[in-house]
Amino acid sequence: MQIPKEIVIIGDGYAAAVMAMHLLRKGIAGDAMTIIGPRVAGKGNAYGCANPFFRLNIREDLPTIFSEDPLHFARWAKDHTNDPDAKTGAGSFYRRRDFGSYVVQLLHDTQGAPEIEHVLAKVKQLRPESGHWTIALDDGSQLSANRVIIATGNAPPVWPCAVSSSAQSSERLVENPWPGDYLERIRPDDHVILLGGGLTALDAISALVGQGHRGMVSVISPRAIFPPVQALWKRCNQPQMPKNLSPRGLVCFMRHYLPKMPADSPEWQSAWEELRPHLNEVWQQFSAHDRRTLLKRVGWVWSLYRFRASPQTIAAYAYLQTRNQVQFALGRAKHITHLEEKIRVQMSSGTELVGDRIINCTGVGSDPLTNELIASGLVASDALLQSIAVNTDFRVMNPEQEPYANLWMIGPATMGSLGDVVASSAIAKQAEQLAGQITE
Ligand SMILES: Cc1cc2nc3c(=O)[nH]c(=O)nc-3n(C[C@H](O)[C@H](O)[C@H](O)COP(=O)(O)OP(=O)(O)OC[C@H]3O[C@@H](n4cnc5c(N)ncnc54)[C@H](O)[C@@H]3O)c2cc1C
Repeated sequence: MQIPKEIVIIGDGYAAAVMAMHLLRKGIAGDAMTIIGPRVAGKGNAYGCANPFFRLNIREDLPTIFSEDPLHFARWAKDHTNDPDAKTGAGSFYRRRDFGSYVVQLLHDTQGAPEIEHVLAKVKQLRPESGHWTIALDDGSQLSANRVIIATGNAPPVWPCAVSSSAQSSERLVENPWPGDYLERIRPDDHVILLGGGLTALDAISALVGQGHRGMVSVISPRAIFPPVQALWKRCNQPQMPKNLSPRGLVCFMRHYLPKMPADSPEWQSAWEELRPHLNEVWQQFSAHDRRTLLKRVGWVWSLYRFRASPQTIAAYAYLQTRNQVQFALGRAKHITHLEEKIRVQMSSGTELVGDRIINCTGVGSDPLTNELIASGLVASDALLQSIAVNTDFRVMNPEQEPYANLWMIGPATMGSLGDVVASSAIAKQAEQLAGQITE
Protein backbone atom coordinates (compact mmCIF):
# COMPACT_ATOMS: atom_id res chain seq x y z
CA MET A 1 0.00 0.00 0.00
CA GLN A 2 1.14 3.56 -0.75
CA ILE A 3 2.26 5.82 2.09
CA PRO A 4 -0.37 8.58 2.38
CA LYS A 5 0.68 12.07 1.31
CA GLU A 6 0.57 14.52 4.20
CA ILE A 7 -1.50 17.38 2.64
CA VAL A 8 -3.10 17.18 -0.79
CA ILE A 9 -4.60 20.27 -2.44
CA ILE A 10 -7.09 19.37 -5.16
CA GLY A 11 -7.07 22.09 -7.85
CA ASP A 12 -4.26 24.10 -9.40
CA GLY A 13 -5.74 27.58 -9.66
CA TYR A 14 -5.31 30.74 -7.67
CA ALA A 15 -6.83 29.27 -4.49
CA ALA A 16 -4.51 26.25 -4.57
CA ALA A 17 -1.45 28.48 -5.04
CA VAL A 18 -2.31 30.89 -2.22
CA MET A 19 -3.16 27.92 0.02
CA ALA A 20 0.25 26.40 -0.64
CA MET A 21 1.99 29.76 -0.07
CA HIS A 22 0.30 30.32 3.28
CA LEU A 23 1.03 26.76 4.43
CA LEU A 24 4.71 27.21 3.52
CA ARG A 25 4.83 30.52 5.37
CA LYS A 26 3.39 28.78 8.42
CA GLY A 27 6.20 26.25 8.36
CA ILE A 28 4.71 23.27 6.51
CA ALA A 29 7.50 21.75 4.41
CA GLY A 30 7.11 21.79 0.64
CA ASP A 31 7.70 18.04 0.41
CA ALA A 32 4.71 17.48 2.71
CA MET A 33 2.40 18.97 0.07
CA THR A 34 0.95 17.71 -3.20
CA ILE A 35 -1.04 19.82 -5.65
CA ILE A 36 -3.27 17.94 -8.08
CA GLY A 37 -4.42 19.73 -11.22
CA PRO A 38 -3.86 19.73 -14.97
CA ARG A 39 -1.88 22.97 -15.35
CA VAL A 40 0.77 25.19 -13.80
CA ALA A 41 -0.36 26.15 -10.29
CA GLY A 42 -1.63 29.69 -9.73
CA LYS A 43 -3.47 30.74 -12.87
CA GLY A 44 -6.63 28.65 -12.98
CA ASN A 45 -9.66 29.65 -14.98
CA ALA A 46 -9.52 33.35 -14.16
CA TYR A 47 -5.86 34.18 -14.74
CA GLY A 48 -4.84 31.46 -17.21
CA CYS A 49 -6.10 33.55 -20.14
CA ALA A 50 -3.71 34.84 -22.80
CA ASN A 51 -5.82 37.67 -24.17
CA PRO A 52 -4.26 41.08 -23.46
CA PHE A 53 -7.69 42.75 -23.27
CA PHE A 54 -8.97 40.63 -20.37
CA ARG A 55 -8.36 42.78 -17.32
CA LEU A 56 -8.81 42.46 -13.59
CA ASN A 57 -12.04 44.07 -12.54
CA ILE A 58 -10.42 45.49 -9.41
CA ARG A 59 -7.77 48.18 -9.07
CA GLU A 60 -4.19 47.37 -8.15
CA ASP A 61 -4.42 47.70 -4.36
CA LEU A 62 -7.26 45.20 -3.96
CA PRO A 63 -5.96 41.72 -4.83
CA THR A 64 -4.31 41.21 -1.43
CA ILE A 65 -2.56 37.89 -0.85
CA PHE A 66 -0.70 38.74 2.38
CA SER A 67 -2.80 40.60 4.93
CA GLU A 68 0.29 42.38 6.29
CA ASP A 69 1.29 43.72 2.85
CA PRO A 70 -1.80 44.76 0.85
CA LEU A 71 0.23 46.70 -1.76
CA HIS A 72 2.47 43.77 -2.71
CA PHE A 73 0.79 43.27 -6.11
CA ALA A 74 0.66 47.00 -6.84
CA ARG A 75 4.45 47.23 -6.41
CA TRP A 76 5.11 44.06 -8.41
CA ALA A 77 2.88 45.24 -11.27
CA LYS A 78 4.67 48.59 -11.48
CA ASP A 79 8.04 46.87 -11.78
CA HIS A 80 7.17 43.79 -13.86
CA THR A 81 4.47 44.71 -16.37
CA ASN A 82 4.57 46.68 -19.59
CA ASP A 83 1.00 47.89 -19.60
CA PRO A 84 0.64 51.65 -20.18
CA ASP A 85 -3.13 51.24 -20.61
CA ALA A 86 -3.58 49.90 -17.07
CA LYS A 87 -3.85 53.33 -15.46
CA THR A 88 -7.29 54.97 -15.26
CA GLY A 89 -8.95 57.65 -13.13
CA ALA A 90 -10.27 54.87 -10.86
CA GLY A 91 -6.85 53.25 -10.28
CA SER A 92 -4.76 50.81 -12.32
CA PHE A 93 -6.54 47.78 -13.75
CA TYR A 94 -3.94 45.27 -14.92
CA ARG A 95 -4.22 42.38 -17.34
CA ARG A 96 -5.48 39.14 -15.83
CA ARG A 97 -2.66 37.19 -17.49
CA ASP A 98 -0.13 39.44 -15.72
CA PHE A 99 -1.82 38.77 -12.39
CA GLY A 100 -1.53 35.04 -13.22
CA SER A 101 2.21 35.43 -13.82
CA TYR A 102 2.49 37.27 -10.50
CA VAL A 103 0.82 34.44 -8.59
CA VAL A 104 2.95 31.78 -10.31
CA GLN A 105 6.14 33.71 -9.56
CA LEU A 106 5.12 34.40 -5.98
CA LEU A 107 4.55 30.71 -5.33
CA HIS A 108 7.78 29.78 -7.08
CA ASP A 109 9.74 32.28 -4.95
CA THR A 110 8.24 31.13 -1.64
CA GLN A 111 10.76 29.14 0.36
CA GLY A 112 10.07 25.42 0.08
CA ALA A 113 7.80 25.71 -2.98
CA PRO A 114 10.10 23.80 -5.40
CA GLU A 115 9.68 20.72 -3.19
CA ILE A 116 5.90 20.69 -3.61
CA GLU A 117 4.85 17.73 -5.73
CA HIS A 118 2.53 18.63 -8.63
CA VAL A 119 0.49 15.77 -10.04
CA LEU A 120 -0.77 16.75 -13.50
CA ALA A 121 -4.21 15.15 -13.45
CA LYS A 122 -7.77 15.72 -12.35
CA VAL A 123 -9.36 14.10 -9.34
CA LYS A 124 -12.39 12.00 -10.19
CA GLN A 125 -13.24 10.57 -6.81
CA LEU A 126 -12.44 10.96 -3.13
CA ARG A 127 -13.22 8.31 -0.52
CA PRO A 128 -12.49 8.04 3.22
CA GLU A 129 -10.53 4.94 4.16
CA SER A 130 -9.12 4.05 7.61
CA GLY A 131 -8.51 7.66 8.66
CA HIS A 132 -7.15 8.94 5.36
CA TRP A 133 -8.54 9.81 1.91
CA THR A 134 -8.16 7.70 -1.20
CA ILE A 135 -7.98 9.88 -4.29
CA ALA A 136 -8.77 8.48 -7.75
CA LEU A 137 -7.31 10.38 -10.71
CA ASP A 138 -8.53 10.66 -14.28
CA ASP A 139 -5.39 8.86 -15.55
CA GLY A 140 -6.53 5.73 -13.70
CA SER A 141 -4.02 6.01 -10.86
CA GLN A 142 -4.73 6.44 -7.15
CA LEU A 143 -3.05 8.07 -4.20
CA SER A 144 -3.92 8.58 -0.58
CA ALA A 145 -3.66 11.54 1.76
CA ASN A 146 -3.90 12.27 5.46
CA ARG A 147 -5.42 15.70 4.88
CA VAL A 148 -7.18 17.08 1.81
CA ILE A 149 -8.08 20.63 0.80
CA ILE A 150 -10.52 21.01 -2.09
CA ALA A 151 -9.82 24.11 -4.19
CA THR A 152 -11.45 23.27 -7.50
CA GLY A 153 -12.84 26.77 -7.95
CA ASN A 154 -15.10 27.96 -10.72
CA ALA A 155 -16.23 25.17 -13.04
CA PRO A 156 -16.16 26.41 -16.66
CA PRO A 157 -19.47 27.52 -18.24
CA VAL A 158 -21.77 25.02 -19.94
CA TRP A 159 -24.49 25.81 -22.46
CA PRO A 160 -27.68 26.77 -20.60
CA CYS A 161 -29.97 25.45 -23.36
CA ALA A 162 -30.14 22.77 -26.02
CA VAL A 163 -27.51 23.00 -28.77
CA SER A 164 -27.64 21.21 -32.13
CA SER A 165 -24.19 21.27 -33.62
CA SER A 166 -21.73 19.21 -35.60
CA ALA A 167 -18.05 18.43 -35.20
CA GLN A 168 -17.23 21.54 -37.23
CA SER A 169 -19.18 23.79 -34.90
CA SER A 170 -16.55 24.33 -32.22
CA GLU A 171 -15.09 27.26 -34.20
CA ARG A 172 -18.42 29.06 -34.13
CA LEU A 173 -19.90 27.91 -30.83
CA VAL A 174 -17.67 28.73 -27.88
CA GLU A 175 -18.87 26.96 -24.75
CA ASN A 176 -16.02 28.07 -22.47
CA PRO A 177 -14.76 31.55 -23.36
CA TRP A 178 -12.58 32.06 -20.26
CA PRO A 179 -9.24 31.13 -21.92
CA GLY A 180 -9.93 33.80 -24.58
CA ASP A 181 -8.30 31.84 -27.40
CA TYR A 182 -11.51 31.90 -29.49
CA LEU A 183 -11.09 35.61 -30.24
CA GLU A 184 -8.33 35.20 -32.79
CA ARG A 185 -10.67 33.06 -34.93
CA ILE A 186 -13.39 35.72 -35.17
CA ARG A 187 -13.40 37.52 -38.52
CA PRO A 188 -13.68 41.34 -38.36
CA ASP A 189 -17.14 41.43 -39.99
CA ASP A 190 -18.69 38.49 -38.13
CA HIS A 191 -21.97 39.04 -36.31
CA VAL A 192 -21.04 37.87 -32.83
CA ILE A 193 -23.75 36.77 -30.38
CA LEU A 194 -22.88 36.96 -26.70
CA LEU A 195 -25.08 34.76 -24.54
CA GLY A 196 -25.24 36.53 -21.16
CA GLY A 197 -24.68 40.13 -20.08
CA GLY A 198 -22.07 40.03 -17.30
CA LEU A 199 -18.32 40.47 -17.01
CA THR A 200 -17.47 37.63 -19.43
CA ALA A 201 -19.54 39.34 -22.15
CA LEU A 202 -17.74 42.59 -21.38
CA ASP A 203 -14.39 40.77 -21.69
CA ALA A 204 -15.42 39.68 -25.17
CA ILE A 205 -16.50 43.22 -26.10
CA SER A 206 -13.24 44.68 -24.82
CA ALA A 207 -11.19 42.18 -26.83
CA LEU A 208 -13.31 42.60 -29.98
CA VAL A 209 -12.87 46.39 -29.88
CA GLY A 210 -9.15 45.88 -29.21
CA GLN A 211 -8.80 43.74 -32.35
CA GLY A 212 -10.72 46.20 -34.51
CA HIS A 213 -13.98 44.33 -34.88
CA ARG A 214 -16.36 45.85 -37.47
CA GLY A 215 -19.32 43.46 -37.26
CA MET A 216 -22.41 43.60 -35.07
CA VAL A 217 -22.37 42.34 -31.48
CA SER A 218 -25.70 41.10 -30.05
CA VAL A 219 -26.03 40.46 -26.33
CA ILE A 220 -28.76 38.02 -25.23
CA SER A 221 -29.83 38.92 -21.71
CA PRO A 222 -33.09 39.25 -19.75
CA ARG A 223 -32.17 42.89 -19.04
CA ALA A 224 -30.51 45.51 -21.25
CA ILE A 225 -27.95 46.46 -18.66
CA PHE A 226 -24.26 45.77 -18.01
CA PRO A 227 -22.50 45.96 -14.64
CA PRO A 228 -21.42 49.52 -13.77
CA VAL A 229 -17.87 50.78 -14.16
CA GLN A 230 -15.58 50.76 -11.12
CA ALA A 231 -15.20 54.20 -9.55
CA LEU A 232 -12.46 55.45 -7.21
CA TRP A 233 -14.31 54.35 -4.07
CA LYS A 234 -12.96 54.44 -0.53
CA ARG A 235 -14.30 52.96 2.71
CA CYS A 236 -14.76 55.95 5.06
CA ASN A 237 -17.50 54.89 7.48
CA GLN A 238 -18.45 51.78 9.46
CA PRO A 239 -22.15 50.97 9.08
CA GLN A 240 -23.86 49.94 12.31
CA MET A 241 -25.57 46.74 11.15
CA PRO A 242 -28.76 46.03 13.16
CA LYS A 243 -28.80 42.70 15.00
CA ASN A 244 -30.93 39.71 13.90
CA LEU A 245 -31.76 41.06 10.45
CA SER A 246 -34.25 39.15 8.33
CA PRO A 247 -33.50 38.95 4.57
CA ARG A 248 -36.11 41.66 3.96
CA GLY A 249 -34.60 43.74 6.80
CA LEU A 250 -31.16 43.40 5.22
CA VAL A 251 -32.40 44.61 1.83
CA CYS A 252 -34.19 47.58 3.52
CA PHE A 253 -31.10 48.46 5.54
CA MET A 254 -28.87 48.36 2.46
CA ARG A 255 -31.32 50.48 0.45
CA HIS A 256 -31.43 53.03 3.23
CA TYR A 257 -27.63 53.08 3.65
CA LEU A 258 -26.85 53.58 -0.05
CA PRO A 259 -26.98 57.22 -1.18
CA LYS A 260 -29.49 58.24 -3.84
CA MET A 261 -26.80 58.58 -6.47
CA PRO A 262 -25.84 56.64 -9.59
CA ALA A 263 -24.23 53.25 -9.00
CA ASP A 264 -21.13 54.33 -10.91
CA SER A 265 -20.47 57.29 -8.58
CA PRO A 266 -17.63 57.03 -6.02
CA GLU A 267 -20.09 57.95 -3.24
CA TRP A 268 -22.48 55.08 -4.03
CA GLN A 269 -19.68 52.55 -4.47
CA SER A 270 -17.95 53.69 -1.26
CA ALA A 271 -21.17 53.07 0.69
CA TRP A 272 -21.65 49.69 -1.04
CA GLU A 273 -18.10 48.66 -0.17
CA GLU A 274 -18.58 49.82 3.43
CA LEU A 275 -21.52 47.42 3.70
CA ARG A 276 -19.84 44.47 2.01
CA PRO A 277 -17.43 43.30 4.76
CA HIS A 278 -20.39 42.91 7.14
CA LEU A 279 -22.57 40.83 4.86
CA ASN A 280 -20.96 37.41 5.30
CA GLU A 281 -21.76 37.36 9.00
CA VAL A 282 -25.40 38.26 8.27
CA TRP A 283 -25.58 35.66 5.47
CA GLN A 284 -24.25 32.92 7.75
CA GLN A 285 -27.05 33.63 10.26
CA PHE A 286 -29.79 33.11 7.67
CA SER A 287 -31.47 29.72 7.32
CA ALA A 288 -30.89 27.70 4.15
CA HIS A 289 -34.40 28.61 3.02
CA ASP A 290 -33.80 32.34 3.57
CA ARG A 291 -30.51 32.22 1.64
CA ARG A 292 -32.20 30.56 -1.34
CA THR A 293 -35.10 33.03 -1.26
CA LEU A 294 -32.76 36.00 -1.04
CA LEU A 295 -30.69 34.75 -3.96
CA LYS A 296 -33.80 34.11 -6.04
CA ARG A 297 -35.27 37.54 -5.36
CA VAL A 298 -32.24 39.82 -5.42
CA GLY A 299 -29.40 37.61 -6.69
CA TRP A 300 -29.26 39.33 -10.08
CA VAL A 301 -29.11 42.80 -8.47
CA TRP A 302 -26.32 41.59 -6.21
CA SER A 303 -24.31 40.17 -9.13
CA LEU A 304 -24.83 43.33 -11.15
CA TYR A 305 -23.46 45.74 -8.55
CA ARG A 306 -21.00 43.41 -6.85
CA PHE A 307 -19.06 42.48 -9.98
CA ARG A 308 -18.31 45.86 -11.51
CA ALA A 309 -16.22 46.27 -14.63
CA SER A 310 -12.86 47.88 -15.30
CA PRO A 311 -12.97 51.35 -16.89
CA GLN A 312 -11.16 50.02 -20.00
CA THR A 313 -13.88 47.44 -20.56
CA ILE A 314 -16.74 49.90 -20.16
CA ALA A 315 -14.94 52.32 -22.50
CA ALA A 316 -14.86 49.57 -25.14
CA TYR A 317 -18.62 49.03 -24.72
CA ALA A 318 -19.25 52.78 -24.98
CA TYR A 319 -17.19 52.83 -28.18
CA LEU A 320 -19.35 50.12 -29.75
CA GLN A 321 -22.47 52.05 -28.67
CA THR A 322 -21.30 55.23 -30.43
CA ARG A 323 -20.92 53.17 -33.62
CA ASN A 324 -24.34 51.46 -33.22
CA GLN A 325 -22.46 48.19 -33.29
CA VAL A 326 -23.97 46.61 -30.19
CA GLN A 327 -27.55 45.65 -29.36
CA PHE A 328 -29.36 43.73 -26.64
CA ALA A 329 -31.71 40.87 -27.57
CA LEU A 330 -33.95 40.68 -24.52
CA GLY A 331 -34.93 37.28 -23.16
CA ARG A 332 -33.34 33.86 -22.86
CA ALA A 333 -31.98 31.46 -25.46
CA LYS A 334 -34.03 28.27 -25.82
CA HIS A 335 -32.21 26.43 -28.59
CA ILE A 336 -29.02 27.06 -30.55
CA THR A 337 -28.49 25.55 -34.00
CA HIS A 338 -25.47 25.67 -36.28
CA LEU A 339 -26.73 25.33 -39.83
CA GLU A 340 -25.22 26.34 -43.16
CA GLU A 341 -22.47 28.53 -41.71
CA LYS A 342 -24.94 30.41 -39.52
CA ILE A 343 -25.81 30.31 -35.84
CA ARG A 344 -29.54 30.44 -35.15
CA VAL A 345 -30.80 31.14 -31.66
CA GLN A 346 -34.43 30.43 -30.80
CA MET A 347 -35.40 32.90 -28.11
CA SER A 348 -37.92 32.33 -25.30
CA SER A 349 -39.96 35.17 -26.85
CA GLY A 350 -40.44 33.09 -30.00
CA THR A 351 -38.13 35.26 -32.14
CA GLU A 352 -34.94 34.04 -33.82
CA LEU A 353 -31.53 35.67 -33.75
CA VAL A 354 -29.06 34.81 -36.53
CA GLY A 355 -25.31 35.41 -36.35
CA ASP A 356 -21.90 33.98 -37.30
CA ARG A 357 -20.58 33.04 -33.85
CA ILE A 358 -22.02 32.51 -30.39
CA ILE A 359 -20.04 32.87 -27.19
CA ASN A 360 -21.40 31.38 -23.98
CA CYS A 361 -21.00 34.11 -21.33
CA THR A 362 -23.43 32.62 -18.81
CA GLY A 363 -20.95 32.14 -15.95
CA VAL A 364 -19.88 29.36 -13.65
CA GLY A 365 -20.83 25.76 -14.50
CA SER A 366 -21.16 22.76 -12.22
CA ASP A 367 -18.19 21.00 -10.58
CA PRO A 368 -18.10 17.24 -11.34
CA LEU A 369 -16.03 16.39 -8.26
CA THR A 370 -18.20 18.18 -5.72
CA ASN A 371 -21.30 16.81 -7.48
CA GLU A 372 -19.90 13.30 -7.19
CA LEU A 373 -19.14 13.74 -3.50
CA ILE A 374 -22.69 14.93 -2.83
CA ALA A 375 -24.25 12.19 -4.96
CA SER A 376 -22.23 9.49 -3.18
CA GLY A 377 -23.70 10.60 0.17
CA LEU A 378 -20.33 11.51 1.68
CA VAL A 379 -20.89 15.24 2.10
CA ALA A 380 -23.77 17.65 2.67
CA SER A 381 -24.96 20.13 0.03
CA ASP A 382 -24.68 23.80 0.82
CA ALA A 383 -27.69 26.03 1.44
CA LEU A 384 -27.96 26.96 -2.25
CA LEU A 385 -27.82 23.28 -3.30
CA GLN A 386 -24.96 24.20 -5.63
CA SER A 387 -21.88 22.92 -3.84
CA ILE A 388 -20.54 21.28 -0.68
CA ALA A 389 -21.43 22.64 2.76
CA VAL A 390 -18.52 23.85 4.91
CA ASN A 391 -18.45 25.33 8.40
CA THR A 392 -16.73 28.60 9.31
CA ASP A 393 -13.44 26.68 9.76
CA PHE A 394 -13.73 25.59 6.09
CA ARG A 395 -14.28 21.98 7.18
CA VAL A 396 -16.45 19.98 4.81
CA MET A 397 -19.65 18.76 6.46
CA ASN A 398 -20.92 15.20 6.25
CA PRO A 399 -24.64 14.56 5.59
CA GLU A 400 -25.24 14.54 9.37
CA GLN A 401 -23.89 18.11 9.40
CA GLU A 402 -20.75 17.09 11.30
CA PRO A 403 -17.41 18.49 10.12
CA TYR A 404 -14.75 16.13 8.76
CA ALA A 405 -11.52 16.35 10.74
CA ASN A 406 -9.26 16.13 7.68
CA LEU A 407 -11.22 17.51 4.70
CA TRP A 408 -11.55 21.24 3.93
CA MET A 409 -12.68 23.39 1.04
CA ILE A 410 -11.82 27.00 0.15
CA GLY A 411 -12.65 29.25 -2.78
CA PRO A 412 -15.72 30.53 -4.59
CA ALA A 413 -17.60 27.25 -4.13
CA THR A 414 -17.89 28.00 -0.38
CA MET A 415 -20.21 30.92 -1.22
CA GLY A 416 -23.44 29.12 -0.29
CA SER A 417 -22.07 28.45 3.21
CA LEU A 418 -19.94 31.51 3.87
CA GLY A 419 -21.21 34.35 1.64
CA ASP A 420 -19.22 36.69 -0.60
CA VAL A 421 -15.96 34.76 -1.02
CA VAL A 422 -15.45 34.95 -4.76
CA ALA A 423 -12.77 37.64 -5.09
CA SER A 424 -9.05 36.94 -5.01
CA SER A 425 -8.52 38.82 -1.73
CA ALA A 426 -11.35 36.93 0.03
CA ILE A 427 -9.90 33.60 -1.11
CA ALA A 428 -6.39 34.55 0.05
CA LYS A 429 -7.88 35.45 3.44
CA GLN A 430 -9.51 32.01 3.63
CA ALA A 431 -6.17 30.38 2.78
CA GLU A 432 -4.36 32.42 5.41
CA GLN A 433 -6.93 31.48 8.08
CA LEU A 434 -6.94 27.80 7.14
CA ALA A 435 -3.14 27.63 7.13
CA GLY A 436 -3.25 29.08 10.65
CA GLN A 437 -5.74 26.45 11.80
CA ILE A 438 -3.90 23.52 10.20
CA THR A 439 -0.59 24.52 11.77
CA GLU A 440 -1.97 25.48 15.17
C1 LIG B 1 -13.14 34.52 -15.81
C2 LIG B 1 -12.96 34.97 -14.39
C3 LIG B 1 -12.39 36.21 -14.11
C4 LIG B 1 -12.22 36.61 -12.80
N1 LIG B 1 -11.68 37.84 -12.56
C5 LIG B 1 -11.45 38.24 -11.28
C6 LIG B 1 -10.84 39.51 -11.01
O1 LIG B 1 -10.55 40.27 -11.92
N2 LIG B 1 -10.62 39.83 -9.71
C7 LIG B 1 -10.96 38.99 -8.67
O2 LIG B 1 -10.69 39.31 -7.50
N3 LIG B 1 -11.56 37.81 -8.92
C8 LIG B 1 -11.82 37.43 -10.18
N4 LIG B 1 -12.44 36.23 -10.42
C9 LIG B 1 -12.96 35.46 -9.27
C10 LIG B 1 -12.21 34.16 -8.94
O3 LIG B 1 -13.16 33.39 -8.21
C11 LIG B 1 -11.00 34.25 -8.06
O4 LIG B 1 -10.26 35.42 -8.24
C12 LIG B 1 -10.04 33.04 -8.22
O5 LIG B 1 -9.48 33.04 -9.50
C13 LIG B 1 -10.65 31.69 -7.95
O6 LIG B 1 -9.60 30.77 -7.89
P1 LIG B 1 -9.82 29.21 -7.72
O7 LIG B 1 -8.49 28.59 -7.66
O8 LIG B 1 -10.75 28.98 -6.59
O9 LIG B 1 -10.60 28.77 -9.01
P2 LIG B 1 -10.16 28.53 -10.52
O10 LIG B 1 -9.40 29.66 -11.03
O11 LIG B 1 -11.39 28.15 -11.19
O12 LIG B 1 -9.14 27.30 -10.43
C14 LIG B 1 -9.52 25.99 -10.13
C15 LIG B 1 -8.54 25.05 -10.78
O13 LIG B 1 -8.79 23.74 -10.30
C16 LIG B 1 -8.72 22.83 -11.38
N5 LIG B 1 -9.62 21.72 -11.10
C17 LIG B 1 -10.98 21.71 -11.16
N6 LIG B 1 -11.46 20.51 -10.83
C18 LIG B 1 -10.39 19.73 -10.55
C19 LIG B 1 -10.23 18.37 -10.15
N7 LIG B 1 -11.29 17.56 -9.98
N8 LIG B 1 -8.99 17.90 -9.96
C20 LIG B 1 -7.90 18.70 -10.12
N9 LIG B 1 -7.99 19.98 -10.50
C21 LIG B 1 -9.22 20.50 -10.71
C22 LIG B 1 -9.15 23.61 -12.61
O14 LIG B 1 -8.57 23.03 -13.76
C23 LIG B 1 -8.64 25.00 -12.30
O15 LIG B 1 -7.37 25.23 -12.86
C24 LIG B 1 -12.64 35.79 -11.72
C25 LIG B 1 -13.21 34.54 -12.00
C26 LIG B 1 -13.36 34.13 -13.32
C27 LIG B 1 -13.96 32.80 -13.59
